[in-house]
Amino acid sequence: MVETRTTTITAPHTIRMNALDNVAIVANDGGLAAGTVLASGLVLVDRVPQGHKVALADLPTGAPVLRYGIPIGHAVRAIPAGSWVHERLLAMPDARGLDDLPMATVAPAPQPPLEGYTFEGYRNADGSVGTRNILAITQTVQCVAGVTDFAVQRIKAELLPGFPNVDDVVALEHSYGCGVAIDAPGAEIPIRTLRNISLNPNFGGEVMVVSLGCEKLQPERLMPAGSIPLIDQRNTDSAANALDVVCLQDDAHVGFMSMVESIMRQATGHLTRLNTRQRVTVPASELVVGVQCGGSDAFSGATANPAVGFCTDLLVRAGASVMFSETTEVRDGIDQLTSRASTPEVARAMVREMAWYDAYLQLGKVDRSANTTPGNKQGGLSNIVEKAMGSIVKSGSAPITGVLAPGEKLTQKGLTYAATPASDFICGTLQLAAGMNLHVFTTGRGTPYGLAAVPVIKVATRTDLARRWHDLMDVNAGTIADGTATIEGVGWELFRLMLEVASGRRKTWAEHWKLHNALVLFNPAPVT
Ligand code: CA
Repeated sequence: MVETRTTTITAPHTIRMNALDNVAIVANDGGLAAGTVLASGLVLVDRVPQGHKVALADLPTGAPVLRYGIPIGHAVRAIPAGSWVHERLLAMPDARGLDDLPMATVAPAPQPPLEGYTFEGYRNADGSVGTRNILAITQTVQCVAGVTDFAVQRIKAELLPGFPNVDDVVALEHSYGCGVAIDAPGAEIPIRTLRNISLNPNFGGEVMVVSLGCEKLQPERLMPAGSIPLIDQRNTDSAANALDVVCLQDDAHVGFMSMVESIMRQATGHLTRLNTRQRVTVPASELVVGVQCGGSDAFSGATANPAVGFCTDLLVRAGASVMFSETTEVRDGIDQLTSRASTPEVARAMVREMAWYDAYLQLGKVDRSANTTPGNKQGGLSNIVEKAMGSIVKSGSAPITGVLAPGEKLTQKGLTYAATPASDFICGTLQLAAGMNLHVFTTGRGTPYGLAAVPVIKVATRTDLARRWHDLMDVNAGTIADGTATIEGVGWELFRLMLEVASGRRKTWAEHWKLHNALVLFNPAPVT
């Protein structure tokens, strides 16, 4: 577990992100009262809550309100200097068109390789590396969830103590598998997501499936021949090569206990093999890190996300894989991203994913502005443009070298845009499918988010949150706003913590308390 550092600042303190900005956010706990004199001499006209914006100059009607050096909106009426610039004073700009974007126009200066960093991980037959040693039981359909869960409880109580090298047993429960239009466009997304999660590096290639029997998503469709590398490599015995499926409707089962014992018997074989896995020293390049944010506030883009962005650059320099995601939270910065793509092909793939998501949202008669939550706004984020600018900084400054569609598996190192919804659980689920072995999650409002399959390192944007949630937050990036730490300092702290957590030497708070959110499959296709 990780201790978070906490200090309190008392002098009026505001944070401006870019020299062009005509607003700054208030950093002080509890906000600042009207009449407060800032260091610049500016006097606050209104009370400004913590994380909210203050106008640094008189803004006439229609003037652009600049944060991160870009317009996050236009003033709907004249706003005097020192005023609280809240969401109702801003008209949001339209989304950037996708037709005339700069494609791979910026080549960030190459950064020196970062060598000599290692962690202790589980090397798999397919070359991937796990950070935990977990038996996962895949399910083809929700119908079997109760039976599988019953069996998992017994496996944990009766079998797991005999396999001390195995960390956990996890049922991959989900709501898909039947009652769905399984051949509709888009249905391949939940199917490949589930397939690829079953192959996550933390599960050691030991795939076992529980099926009902009559469901639409048949085991052979979920895990077609050739999809499991370990089965191909283990031996050539055709019986042993068959997919390990326990089918509840099989005639051989008489009574509930027959099903449970069948699952336990099959699990024993997988546990026996998993138990022989040993941690070995591997280079930091074997990390596959998914970054995301949730419960964001105006500090997210000033403290935690920039620190994560600095750490993303460290990981890329170390040769690791890093994914950033959350389509609606990068849509408004698409020109920054396409220009940073390493090639026009990568830029085009990014545009393809944005266009697909625009169309998906249009089906529901909404756009990317449906993203922001009441908590975001309470935390000072006026709209999705401001939120997106703060979210994108998680991606650091390296060239973007890869793009994944939702549910696809990552096959390359470097910085990848893995297209996912911004929904925390759906994003996490899709990053698991991509092969993530470590998750970094920033939050300003606070969320106890965690996953059963990989460690989740949570980074607080504010010292106040880190203090109150001292046994849920792993890193306090609020020290950056307090002036007691730097973005670089917190970025390095996070990098070193990742290697400790990946090695199993430290547990995250979510692991300590066993806080496990559900797998939530992204299914854009109809249900029936
Ligand atoms: Ca999210």
